[in-house]
Amino acid sequence: MSGPLVSLVLATHNAHKVTELRQILGAQLDGIDLMIYDGPEPVEDGDSFEANALIKARAASAHTGFAAIADDSGIAVATLGGAPGINSARYAGTRDDADNVRLLLTNLQGTDDRSAEFLCAAALVLPDGRETVELSRWSGSVLLEPVGDGGFGYDPVFMPVGYGISAAELHPDEKNMISHRARAFEALMPTVRRLLLGQPT
Ligand code: IMP
Repeated sequence: MSGPLVSLVLATHNAHKVTELRQILGAQLDGIDLMIYDGPEPVEDGDSFEANALIKARAASAHTGFAAIADDSGIAVATLGGAPGINSARYAGTRDDADNVRLLLTNLQGTDDRSAEFLCAAALVLPDGRETVELSRWSGSVLLEPVGDGGFGYDPVFMPVGYGISAAELHPDEKNMISHRARAFEALMPTVRRLLLGQPT
């Protein structure tokens, strides 16, 4: 595609997410100049993944004056009533992935039902106030111990349905085709391209 690029800000300070999203978005970024937001982080005090994704995208759009996309994601474990859920990043209180995984495994000790899902809300906010958000899920179960060293966060203890390996053992290309984040942004990007580039969905 020729012509000037349209600016879009990605509102995340998580380097792992930036890497995954660049791969997930791929050709969906044709005609778009994706900039990584490095301004102040808003307080994520929403009560849902969707609310928090919108809070992040609104803050980045307000601070930069450009359209912004953001995600909010986490793991919800059925037998823990959906915890850690929206508190996934700060579950153990340290914002450390290994601490979070350790606490999750401790809380599941002696539990037979280890079913869980990753959830991701992907949000778009335009400077004129228009906004949209998409929620997607990735079902699986929590392993007894961490396996694999790919991915990030809870990937070493998450085994997706239909796979005999953890998300941390999946090739990044594969994770980024089937994950909660991939599905949420697949759902969001037609709207992004329609509103930013005037392309029909
Ligand atoms: P957020 O940055 O507030 O959305 O926090 C998301 C947290 O959920 C991360 O810090 C991870 O702990 C977890 N999480 C979200 N997506 C993934 C994933 O794809 N793999 C593993 N952990 C994830």
